[in-house]
Amino acid sequence: MTQRMQDKEESIKQLRDQLGHLTNELNKTTEYIQLLEIQDESKTKRDNLDSEPEHEISELLQKQNTISHEIILVKKRIQKLSAKTILKIELLILPIVIVLLFFVATNYAIQPSADINSSIKTRYMTENLRGSITDDYKYWNVANNTPLVVNIENNAGASDQNIQAVKNAIMSTDMITDDNSQTYQADSAPSKYFKGWQGAVKTISDTKHYVPEKFNIIQSPSGEGQIVITLSTIKDSNGYSGVTRTIVDGNQILKAFITIYDAGKLTDTQTESIVRHEFGHALGLPHTSNTSDLMHDSIAADHSYISTCDINTLQKLYNDVKPSDDFCNNE
Ligand SMILES: [Zn+2]
Repeated sequence: MTQRMQDKEESIKQLRDQLGHLTNELNKTTEYIQLLEIQDESKTKRDNLDSEPEHEISELLQKQNTISHEIILVKKRIQKLSAKTILKIELLILPIVIVLLFFVATNYAIQPSADINSSIKTRYMTENLRGSITDDYKYWNVANNTPLVVNIENNAGASDQNIQAVKNAIMSTDMITDDNSQTYQADSAPSKYFKGWQGAVKTISDTKHYVPEKFNIIQSPSGEGQIVITLSTIKDSNGYSGVTRTIVDGNQILKAFITIYDAGKLTDTQTESIVRHEFGHALGLPHTSNTSDLMHDSIAADHSYISTCDINTLQKLYNDVKPSDDFCNNE
């Protein structure tokens, strides 16, 4: 504590003492006035004359008034000094707060965009109807040719182009050839990748359970649909860009919730990559340990497409085969 602050504390203490003294005096005066009033009353009754104490009472009332006024002044000075002391402390803390805010702001402003350019962090979870987390394999059990209803909830006010990016990740049948310099199987021949899940799943045949290959996209705020994609303004505190929560009954998927965090601030390419990955979860795929694959828990925003391996793994799932933890690593 600085010398000036100590002086101020001392002044406040003195003023409080003075206040105590004045309050005492005021109480005494008030008591005395009351006493005189009682005396005066009885005397007046007895003599039916103008009383002597009346004069004294008026003087005392004056004194009472003065003391009250002084008390108010002392209280004001105490308030003022206390406020200054608090302000002093605030001023001392303020630079620390500013520095902290600066750190928080720069971390939030710079980190996610840097992260998003290099890799996007995602996570997923599977819950059964009792609300317990399960890591069992899962698949949709829908009738042949029945489309899955996919609801896009645009809570972030994302642009039409951004919504189109979400749709592309699901509906596109486009294929791209990649030289594998940045994606998986880096040393093998150029591979074909799918941009959208509709194109990818159409190549799957011979499965025990029908693989959904038709998607009916709606935009409704009421949460309907089998797969709900929420474009959220919320920024995930752990730095995740997307999460998929799947509700299962046994191995059967009943509903999947995809949340894209901080959606309004993502580029179309970023949005498309995240949705492509999360939709893989929504169809039943877990994470692979292959860092270059679309289904790795962190993905490249500009280089994440549906691999042949992802498609093969999906085919296994719909044949009741649980994929190994390192699927897409050894194929
Ligand atoms: Zn994931």
